Amino acid sequence: MSGWVVVAGLGPGAQALVTPEVTAALAEATDVVGYIPYVRRVAPRPGLTRHESDNRVELDRARHALELAQAGGRVVVVSSGDPGVFAMASALFEAFEAGPPEWRALDIRVLPGITAMLAASAKAGAPLGHDFCAINLSDNLKPWALIEKRLRLAVEADFAMAFYNPRSVARPEGFGRVLYLLRETCEGARLIVFARAVSTPDEELRIVTLADARPEMADMRTVVIVGSSQTRLIPGTRLVYTPRGVPS
Ligand code: SAH
Repeated sequence: MSGWVVVAGLGPGAQALVTPEVTAALAEATDVVGYIPYVRRVAPRPGLTRHESDNRVELDRARHALELAQAGGRVVVVSSGDPGVFAMASALFEAFEAGPPEWRALDIRVLPGITAMLAASAKAGAPLGHDFCAINLSDNLKPWALIEKRLRLAVEADFAMAFYNPRSVARPEGFGRVLYLLRETCEGARLIVFARAVSTPDEELRIVTLADARPEMADMRTVVIVGSSQTRLIPGTRLVYTPRGVPS
């Protein structure tokens, strides 16, 4: 039997936010491969082998998935959110491109999921309703100087911004530096949404101004949305939105 690899997004947490397409792929799978907490979101069943790995070994994990498929396995590589957003789809293609020629015949599909910034944006209102960008604040795979450059230019272009991986135990100082840089150029009333563990039982949504934002409001389960200069809090509510247009 010929194998396949599906790279699937499990969404931000809630089972209701897993797409039917992903559920169907998981029902057909012989193997699930991924970072430990994501693999554990897939219920065990007879005929399904769950392969859990640590979060720093994406390329090894991708190669493993491709080898399993080459041997006839029906393999689902799981990511949280969307697999194309700071997640396993790119790692899989990196491994695939560098891999042996026989892999080229493999059936590979990417199934989208609801990414954290969109789940968070929906909870807050519509802060990403106009032009926006997403920046991964982890400097594991890129120099910190590049993060600062992209941040500076995004602020200059007045994008709303979503920050993934804002703060970890290993890099506690980076997000403080980001707030410092934002304060240099943005007004103190600029709106920031700290959305933690969206769509899980631990969900917390905090809406503050840049002046009141503190580094410890973010952790690795938080996506941070910084509004553009146009982003508004509707008075008397906790609804944040960015209007569809910018006055000329
Ligand atoms: N592929 C994922 C992102 C992986 S990077 C996606 O599309 O969502 C991991 C980062 O995603 C975390 O550090 C956090 O910033 C964000 N994140 C993932 N799930 C989240 C959730 N349920 N609530 C808030 N942020 C989340």
